[in-house]
Amino acid sequence: MDTYAFGFPRIGRNREYKKAIEGFWKGKIGEAELQIRLTDIQNFMVEQYETYVDGYPKGEITGYDHMIDTAVMCGLYKAPDTDAYYNLCRGKDALEMTKWFNTNYHYLVPDFAGKTPEELTLVRNKFDISGAASQDRPVYLIGPFTFLKLAKGIERGDIDKFTAAVAQIYKELLASLGSVHMDEPAFVLDLDRDEISRIKRVYELLSDAGCNINVFTYYDGVSFLDELVSLPVAGIGLDFVRSPESLDFIKRGKFPADKKLYAGLVDGRNIWRTDPSQVKSALSIITRYVNEVVLTNAAPLFHVPLTTEGEELDSRLLSRLSFAIQKLEEIGHFAADDFAAVDESRADEFGENKEVGRRISGLQDHHFRRADDYSSRKNAQDASLGLPLLATTTIGSFPQTSEVRKARANYKKGRIGAKEYQAFVDGQIEDAINRQEKLGLDVLVHGEFERSDMVEFFAEKLDGIATTKSGWIISYGTRAYRPPIIFGDISRPVPMTVREVTYAQSLTDKPVKGMLTGPVTIIAWSFVRSDIPVSEVANQLGLVLRDEIADYESAGIKIIQVDEPAFREMAPNKRNRWDEYFEWAIKSFRLATAGVKPETQIHSHMCYAEFGEIIDRIHAMDFDVISIEATRSGGDVIESFEQMDFDRQIGLGVWDIHSPAVPGKDLIKNVVKRALKVIPIENFWINPDCGLKTRGWEETMASLGEMVVGAGELRRQYQS
Ligand code: GLN
Ligand code: ZN
Repeated sequence: MDTYAFGFPRIGRNREYKKAIEGFWKGKIGEAELQIRLTDIQNFMVEQYETYVDGYPKGEITGYDHMIDTAVMCGLYKAPDTDAYYNLCRGKDALEMTKWFNTNYHYLVPDFAGKTPEELTLVRNKFDISGAASQDRPVYLIGPFTFLKLAKGIERGDIDKFTAAVAQIYKELLASLGSVHMDEPAFVLDLDRDEISRIKRVYELLSDAGCNINVFTYYDGVSFLDELVSLPVAGIGLDFVRSPESLDFIKRGKFPADKKLYAGLVDGRNIWRTDPSQVKSALSIITRYVNEVVLTNAAPLFHVPLTTEGEELDSRLLSRLSFAIQKLEEIGHFAADDFAAVDESRADEFGENKEVGRRISGLQDHHFRRADDYSSRKNAQDASLGLPLLATTTIGSFPQTSEVRKARANYKKGRIGAKEYQAFVDGQIEDAINRQEKLGLDVLVHGEFERSDMVEFFAEKLDGIATTKSGWIISYGTRAYRPPIIFGDISRPVPMTVREVTYAQSLTDKPVKGMLTGPVTIIAWSFVRSDIPVSEVANQLGLVLRDEIADYESAGIKIIQVDEPAFREMAPNKRNRWDEYFEWAIKSFRLATAGVKPETQIHSHMCYAEFGEIIDRIHAMDFDVISIEATRSGGDVIESFEQMDFDRQIGLGVWDIHSPAVPGKDLIKNVVKRALKVIPIENFWINPDCGLKTRGWEETMASLGEMVVGAGELRRQYQS
């Protein structure tokens, strides 16, 4: 059987991708050298493919992101040179960035606003077809439908015109190419009839180009399989890992005899070794019904790190892991009928914790419900906290200065001891408390100086979660992170954050808010074990946080925030799977937070504004206060809260912390005034959009100063 693979990580063996591009940004290397280095990385990717599989796309390297490359290719933006290209990617004129499907990768969002279809023309960009791959490989492209579906700024009435223009550009390009690999993950979204007809029209047109087209769908199943397999293309890729139902379609003998099926059977999204028996049985079915089967990965491999080689993990865990190179190896073994070569069995009990199992099976309804309803909690909290109207606070982190990062690095490398590091962190906390007191904020935070990252920090403290040495994956551009690996039952050997938060509280009479990362976000930004349901992993995390919160309470902390910025992004691509997801997502938050006294105030934070469709689900989390982004929409977001009579407090994010600009108090007041038109003043808090760890102290002090003064003026105005 033939094999194929795609989406291999472009980060390089030692993060050469990051070094090359950032080196160019810093002026350390020039344009020509950057090209050479990117080509080297591409050659390295090709080498890996060549070692293990028969086929792969060429031109998978990009200078930053494939969506922006596609936009430039269609003439939507002009990028005559490398500097112009990077101006689209970063800095003050950069495009907006957003999550790529339900993954942690972010792409640059092409914006068609103000453009006309006539302006679009084919521009052959420098990044797309370079590299040493031999000529007969299919050229990598993002498909036209996915490109347009993920873009913004196209008026409803204009979509056909733009689709026709873009399709024409692709046709012109395809006419000069022998074969293409076309990524169309947007085919797995919930699409309406119009969209499906549009797909058909586009591919009809493209088929005239005389190019061999292979379309890849992944991240989920396609709901219009009959029509998909009838498209005039040579090959179709299906993700059997995320969509086992696709196998039923194959079993009905519906796959056309004249097309190639790229059978995605090796998971591209998770890091566990593939179960050979599953692949074996799926292949035995598929080969019975399909003429030409090519074994491949189910989703692009860049969602997993490069290789397990060199990782210093417990051998019992290491032997269960498969990163990108190991996945290629697996594909090779399976296609050669060598199923015994991949051993994913877990004969040992490594990672099991009986006590955790016992607590999980002892969970009852009341563990997920606060004893008091919101209005009696509100009374108790108002009495206990005595906060002013329009109370001000921040989201948790304060600037992670180079001093903070240096101290942490020294500590991790053993250059300074735990005592010295703690003393350093305490000094930072003291400074942050002093600054907040001086600013006049109402609810203070300790500043999160001890945390490298809001997920990694907890992963390092918890049993059942491992962290890797070099398991980097790209989250956007050149930015990479190392997702932790949840491999076993999760427990908390000792309190994780209580020391720092109570130290902060000891320095002030104002309430200090305890700060935790919620179960959904820890799960979303980690690799998660697949031997038990994710709902159970979420409950294990819920219990760990519940214990931490109980410790906060005993230490006298009155306000606790559980951040869930990944709550929306974790939602499945398909709406019919939403109920199942939100059920466990909400329950895990409630398990974490429902054990507190009525006067203890629970906050949550989500740094985005698309609440419309999920407002009921957010309400069901049953927190007391939620802080959200509001500046960029000028306060529009509040309308979704108004629509459902949201009887909780809302912290309006009035400072867009993604920009270094200091917001004046008038801008702040305008956002609040708009919100006050629809929701009573008693329900509002005032805060920045998100944590301040990427900001400097100077703009932080200036902006928070404006915020506190603005809030004070409004307070006086509304009270009189
Ligand atoms: N508490 C975190 C911080 O302030 C929240 C970060 C986030 O929402 N992404 O950094
Ligand atoms: Zn945030």
